[in-house]
Amino acid sequence: MVKITFPDHSVREYQEGVTGLEIAKELSNSLAKEVLSVSVNDEVWDLTRPINKDAHIKFHKFDDPEGKHAFWHSSAHLMAEALETLYPGTKFGIGPSIENGFYYDVDTGDGIVITDADLPKIEEKMVELSRRNNTYVRKEVSKKEVTDYFREKGDEYKLELISELEDGTISLYSQGNFTDLCRGPHLPDTGPIKAIKLLNVAGAYWRGDEKRKQLTRIYGITFPKKNMLDEYLEMLEQAKARDHRKLGKELELFMFSAKVGQGLPIWLPRGAALRERLENFLRKVQLDYGYQPVITPHIGQKELYITSGHWEKYGKDSFRPILTPTEGEEFLLKPMNCPHHCEIYKYKPRSYKDLPIRLAEFGTVYRYEQSGELHGLTRVRGFTQDDAHIFCRPDQLKEEFIKVIDIILYIFKVLEFNDYTAQISLRDPNDREKYIGTDENWEKSERAIMEASKEKGLKTTIEIGEAAFYGPKLDFLVNDALGRKWQLGTVQVDYNLPDRFELEYIGSDDQKHRPVMIHRAPFGSLERFVAVLIEHTAGKFPLWLTPDQVVILPISEKFHDYAKKVLKFLNNYDIRTLIDERNEKIGKKIRDNELKRIPYLLIVGEKEEKSNTLSVRRQGEGDKGTMTLEDFVISLNKEIEKQLKLN
Ligand SMILES: [Zn+2]
Ligand SMILES: [Zn+2]
Repeated sequence: MVKITFPDHSVREYQEGVTGLEIAKELSNSLAKEVLSVSVNDEVWDLTRPINKDAHIKFHKFDDPEGKHAFWHSSAHLMAEALETLYPGTKFGIGPSIENGFYYDVDTGDGIVITDADLPKIEEKMVELSRRNNTYVRKEVSKKEVTDYFREKGDEYKLELISELEDGTISLYSQGNFTDLCRGPHLPDTGPIKAIKLLNVAGAYWRGDEKRKQLTRIYGITFPKKNMLDEYLEMLEQAKARDHRKLGKELELFMFSAKVGQGLPIWLPRGAALRERLENFLRKVQLDYGYQPVITPHIGQKELYITSGHWEKYGKDSFRPILTPTEGEEFLLKPMNCPHHCEIYKYKPRSYKDLPIRLAEFGTVYRYEQSGELHGLTRVRGFTQDDAHIFCRPDQLKEEFIKVIDIILYIFKVLEFNDYTAQISLRDPNDREKYIGTDENWEKSERAIMEASKEKGLKTTIEIGEAAFYGPKLDFLVNDALGRKWQLGTVQVDYNLPDRFELEYIGSDDQKHRPVMIHRAPFGSLERFVAVLIEHTAGKFPLWLTPDQVVILPISEKFHDYAKKVLKFLNNYDIRTLIDERNEKIGKKIRDNELKRIPYLLIVGEKEEKSNTLSVRRQGEGDKGTMTLEDFVISLNKEIEKQLKLN
């Protein structure tokens, strides 16, 4: 008999060799129907794998990441089986599950090209195969046996993977007529894979190496129920409509020019105005919190980055140095602002009474990204960080953390990112060699982060071993309106740069001490933040931030003069206003301007001119009735104050 311990600590005895599925069936039939994989002593297993010794177990359904992994990974095998049936001789690279679904990298051989048009046919085959309820059978094999199998099959990709595995740890999984090299875990059978959608085809270099063969990557997603797939596809449609690259163009916010260079965003007037308002908003908050704005150059001597350690760590994958024509000087495009700020700290002696010093800069940095990695505003080669570095004493860490968290939460509140989590990354205490800084300092800063997060009531997850080598950190993840996760703000403690730059302050004991440095960027970068904001709001920015707040729509040319009078009045109150003077029907003018996401539409005709009033429409809310000009200004300003949570 074996003793099985459940998550609620209850213990039951079973025959040796019992499987997770048998245990689930005994507990309840409905559980057995939903469960997809099982953790056995913290290792995720197939439900059909025999348990031969005492174990604590935990079942996973589709809601759990472990359940989804087994489901999607099994779906990748199912797709591979369909491909092998339809395209005999196909060779297989890797086929993992990913955050949403799975992919498989395949080589269909010379002369066969799979395109999006082929996906329905493959999908159909997958449905046919899944209905056979074929079981996924695990088999542990010797390296020789598995090498022979794939040599006979002629799959050089699998042979390369096998050559890197250790004998005694290799397993094969088969379902139907298909066998794959795999660690698992998998579903008991193909039956639960009911709703199937293959999403797209892309190219992918074998092992990510551009010198090697380009394989065909096929992406797909599957669900246990059709309505779940429908919901997911609906979400994808909405995401497509909100894609910041599409809306950025439509709303004339930013552009890219092949001539200027790929990955270098260019802000158009409307986008520049929006970005400037975001900067001013944060600038004001930061001034209130005692930050001092600084400005540093876009390039720095290579020596600076040798001191900071960036050259050694990232130099190979950076833009090449810039050389002066005669003096032999070498400069780098600035990849980060920190080294410059360290030099600012150093320009005069500091006393413990001067700390904390908070240096803030909207600093534009340049980082080389491979062209294939570039994506809209989220992966670029030049971007502006809302950066700041806080130099403080160790005893000030917690208070500084609390203040940084306050700023980040205020920003989230104003921009209505109401659903967020915070991730605390700590060092791995069993691997201290990996980190620089004393144990005492690490303990102090980790405690400061955890206490500050607790005091602010943050929902946190703690990741052991995820800290940077130079210090622990706190990252903020927001869920947008479609429930997608984005990483935004980040706060990092750093013991490394103060050491490398030999930063000092004179303590109350008249001795020299080393300050602690905190890097923090609430937006992350303005580019990335604007991208997330566009997708979160579908381009309907808050009134205080949006490029054009009001558009005046005269019913006919006769009322252009009155429209101009209204414009002048609103401009006096700094309300960003346009007039739509086109000779179009009022219905069309309303539709067009709503598409431009302008929050307020003011319709003016004879009635309005006579009574010195406006007919007000609010985007998404419709008709708000007639108002005097003064009342409109008052209500608009009230709305902005409310958005900025000023009262
Ligand atoms: Zn597998
Ligand atoms: Zn920094």
